[in-house]
Amino acid sequence: MNGIDEKLQPILATVLHRNAGEPEFHQAVREVLESLGRVVARHPEYSDEALIERICEPERQIIFRVPWIDDNNQVRINRGFRVQFNSSLGPYKGGVRFHPSVNVGIIKFLGFEQVFKNALTGMPIGGGKGGSDFDPKGRSDREIMRFCQSFMIELHRHIGEYVDVPAGDIGVGAREIGYMFGMYKRLNNRFEAGVLTGKGLAYGGSRARKEATGFGLAYFVQSMLEKKGTDFEGKRCVVSGSGNVAIYAMEKILSFGGKIVACSDSSGYIVDENGIDLELVKQIKESRRARISEYADLKGQGCTYVKCGSVWQVPCEIALPCATQNELNGTDAKALVKNGVIVVAEGANMPCTPEAVQHFRSAGIMFAPGKAANAGGVATSALEMQQNASRDSWSFQKTEDRLAEIMRGIHAACDQTAEEFGAPGDYALGANIAGFVRVADAMRAMGII
Ligand code: NDP
Repeated sequence: MNGIDEKLQPILATVLHRNAGEPEFHQAVREVLESLGRVVARHPEYSDEALIERICEPERQIIFRVPWIDDNNQVRINRGFRVQFNSSLGPYKGGVRFHPSVNVGIIKFLGFEQVFKNALTGMPIGGGKGGSDFDPKGRSDREIMRFCQSFMIELHRHIGEYVDVPAGDIGVGAREIGYMFGMYKRLNNRFEAGVLTGKGLAYGGSRARKEATGFGLAYFVQSMLEKKGTDFEGKRCVVSGSGNVAIYAMEKILSFGGKIVACSDSSGYIVDENGIDLELVKQIKESRRARISEYADLKGQGCTYVKCGSVWQVPCEIALPCATQNELNGTDAKALVKNGVIVVAEGANMPCTPEAVQHFRSAGIMFAPGKAANAGGVATSALEMQQNASRDSWSFQKTEDRLAEIMRGIHAACDQTAEEFGAPGDYALGANIAGFVRVADAMRAMGII
């Protein structure tokens, strides 16, 4: 239990014991507890009344069967999850992930992170997360629809505008949200726009929601660079993944003058020294849902595709892991540092292993954790809820301006909190403490519940 204050060690021991076989959840809790020693030393009241133990235990965990029928008339069974982690700041809020790797430990780690992330946005939203081990790859539209409908037939009784508001995540985009919203509307016989976010514009979605996580990440990095007296202009950037977060991070970075030289998908990565052609990536990954290897086939000269392998071997100054958890390990971190990286910011949730983060820290590299750097998605979801509640629809510019303002606010909160607690420049510590204090203050006010 290296790095964890003595007072907090029994809390981690309980979490490990009570949630056996959930390594990602252990990792997320450990990382937060490592930061909280400084808070309880200064404000012992935060460790009273088992407050931290309560924060580590979800308020509710729902696991359910999702039966559906594939195109060959075969009955398929998947498992669905919703972990309602903490509602002290508002209704539970967090995405739904469809990926074969999903299990309760992964959903719990994501839900736990979400609590602090949502607190950092300053918006009135609690934390939760959901998903299924359903694999959307290779499934027809009709199969996706039937699965989403079956998933919602169970989920609908646990969610609501004032209860729990799911959104998208890996494998869940506007198409899936549309199918789920349709089934929710039918089951409840009411048009409750604020029950899901990430909706299509035609039926209550927000402009800039699709772009928000990636754009927000770019704004956060812009603030980090500003602090160092520099900017994106001409800097080599590597982004992992080529999904929602990666694509819109690349788009904003290009507009800020950065140069993207590589991105990836779960099969491999591409390097284009002329700069990644984002429109082509969008065509391949967003429109056709095909493999990133096609990029190299279509581009030919000057572009290479590396099957498997690590995209972090490509030299860059700015590295943005935007694919999935634990995708950047200690070896990758060493390669990045050796090749001159100056900023690493997490677009995905917990993409850097603890060894990688430790290496960045000891090498003095600026590192931003996902709970701060990728909070733009959920913040804009909260703006979508705000528009739904007031039956309004904002312009793209107005929404993006609010997003930029929120991201600058999160950057300032992390930076100032790190400074205040004696660790200047440690965004991870700043994010954990700033998020924790907001949730803890609300919990203390509400008594032991
Ligand atoms: P998408 O499903 O749109 O894209 C995920 C991308 O990551 C795809 O390119 C996928 O490749 C790739 N990928 C998945 N698993 C692996 C792997 N094991 N190795 C390499 N690449 C992989 O998801 P999002 O962009 O929405 O989410 C990405 C990350 O960002 C997740 O950690 C998510 O939790 C986080 N996040 C997302 C938010 C959002 O608003 N969408 C908000 C905040 C965080 P392939 O195409 O081959 O599947």
